[in-house]
Amino acid sequence: MSFLRSADVGYRRFLMTDRILDIQNLKTYFHTQEGVIRAVDGVYLSVRRRKALGIVGESGCGKSITSLSVLQVIPSPGRIVDGRVLFYPEAESDRPVDLAQLKRHGRELRRIRGKDISLVFQEPMVALSPVYTVGNQIIEALRLHEPHSKRRARELAVEMLDKVGIPNPDVMVDRYTFELSGGMRQRALIAMALVCGPKLLIADEPTTAIDVTIQAQILDLIRSLQTDMDMSVMLITHDLGVIAEMVDDIVVMYLGKVVESGSLHDIFDRASHPYTVALQRSIPRFQRRGQPLEVIRGNVPDPYTRPQGCEFAERCPKAMNRCFQDKPAMAEVGDRHSAKCFLFTDEVESAPGREANVR
Ligand code: SF4
Repeated sequence: MSFLRSADVGYRRFLMTDRILDIQNLKTYFHTQEGVIRAVDGVYLSVRRRKALGIVGESGCGKSITSLSVLQVIPSPGRIVDGRVLFYPEAESDRPVDLAQLKRHGRELRRIRGKDISLVFQEPMVALSPVYTVGNQIIEALRLHEPHSKRRARELAVEMLDKVGIPNPDVMVDRYTFELSGGMRQRALIAMALVCGPKLLIADEPTTAIDVTIQAQILDLIRSLQTDMDMSVMLITHDLGVIAEMVDDIVVMYLGKVVESGSLHDIFDRASHPYTVALQRSIPRFQRRGQPLEVIRGNVPDPYTRPQGCEFAERCPKAMNRCFQDKPAMAEVGDRHSAKCFLFTDEVESAPGREANVR
């Protein structure tokens, strides 16, 4: 592949870091009667081992579809049309598994789903079955991957419920999900996701459906379990406040593309892309009480008719003439900090090799 032969310094540097997931030029499209929606359109990102990566952006930016593409659980009619999703199960492994190449319903991908890589969805009532007890669902997830007896699997399910902070776990294991509060359901879902000890947890807006006090508890729980279980985490959210508390690295997405990536401090202290700056300004702050809340003007462009130039041009306060004609290439703006904007480069988006300096 051309991007692996690329002499790009930034890409080679990130190749040397200990990563567990490496997404390269991922494209996930939805072919509909009205046209093609390029929900994920050439995304590059990587998740470091035992670190948390946050993917942030407005609704419709492609962050959820990026995460669902990792395990090929994309809703129909979406499908991966190009790119690689390299998973490195072992720390020193030179032989990643390309998840994008595996059969969607094949044995190998089913073995990885729930065992090595787990997903936590935003709405536990949808993700959990109402007709089976919490225990049954955790035990099923466990016995699918591990040869435990029913009795041992139940013991492990109770242990896991205890670990995620559910009181009286030996009683709650026999409860149905409709008997649990929203926060307890989300904890049960996390227990189910973690019971096989995954190496990577993908959490898609895990606190959206619960109130703010419980939200803080769930985020603390994920963070502490990440440390206890030596996991990597990919956290998807539209909430920069959540990101600030949780992650080591951040990727900012807009209209199916990564527009900025860097460490937590890069993005919060040295935000470079005008979209990232606008997102930050739209966070309500106590110090600005009494002042009108800043919003990002305009709307995300129609997915069927993408702009010719920079996707953010219509909404960008710094847009120049060329921004409406050409798409900028990703440019390094610091050490392992990149932004896709003509304020930092004269180069236009071109071959995949040039894009590869995205971390
Ligand atoms: Fe704004 Fe131009 Fe940069 Fe796009 S390339 S974010 S329009 S300044």
